[in-house]
Amino acid sequence: MQILATQGLCKTYGKGETQVQALKPTDIAVQKGEFVAIIGPSGSGKSTMLHMLGGLDYPTGGKVFIDGTDIFSMKEKELSVFRRRKIGFVFQAFNLVPVLSVEENITLPLLLDHAAPDKTYVQEVIHALGLEQRRTHLPSQLSGGQQQRVAIGRALAAKPAIILADEPTGNLDTQNSKEVLALLHMSVQTYNQTLIVITHNPEIAAHADRILRIEDGTVTELEAGGSHAQ
Ligand code: ADP
Repeated sequence: MQILATQGLCKTYGKGETQVQALKPTDIAVQKGEFVAIIGPSGSGKSTMLHMLGGLDYPTGGKVFIDGTDIFSMKEKELSVFRRRKIGFVFQAFNLVPVLSVEENITLPLLLDHAAPDKTYVQEVIHALGLEQRRTHLPSQLSGGQQQRVAIGRALAAKPAIILADEPTGNLDTQNSKEVLALLHMSVQTYNQTLIVITHNPEIAAHADRILRIEDGTVTELEAGGSHAQ
């Protein structure tokens, strides 16, 4: 089942002499349960693409379909609700709310959506992420690796159609990177999540089902890896 597709998706910044074609017209399709890594040099257009896939930034041209919805055909308010329900984000900077506990950070997107959290599922996620002993802690009381685990939990909480991660291990040491990688893997397998990850980490790329390489705004597909897709 196709969960994400782009048609001629492109982005140009600026005008005239300072114009930068950050993403050239791109058609990609991602199936439910796939783990896709995006690699490429700095400044090649990776974040630009990811932000548009998640409806965080508008394209200059083209379309993004998530779960069959043409996301940029929605009004801004509708899109922000759609994002909260359908897309989980994990960033390099963990972006947790400092005054909220681990558990509150994880359920925040649901509460913002006035949805009752599926308590059993949230507890299962907290357990799977190894955060049971930390549920009442504040982000400042956690290590970087633990904070990123909370961010993964927050991304999983709404059972989104897709999780988009931008350098999720960029701020972590080797051991914590390994743990975060294992948890991202777990989310793909246990919850049949679809995951698109920008990474410089060769281990993450090696575990992906597919690798997309971006260079100067042009996306090409590299070799296939694992086999989680359904
Ligand atoms: P990457 O994520 O691969 O490092 P980016 O998507 O951030 O690359 O950037 C791609 C290109 O677009 C770069 O040349 C960058 O300088 C340019 N760019 C990114 N964001 C902006 C912006 N807001 N305004 C102007 N140029 C931008």
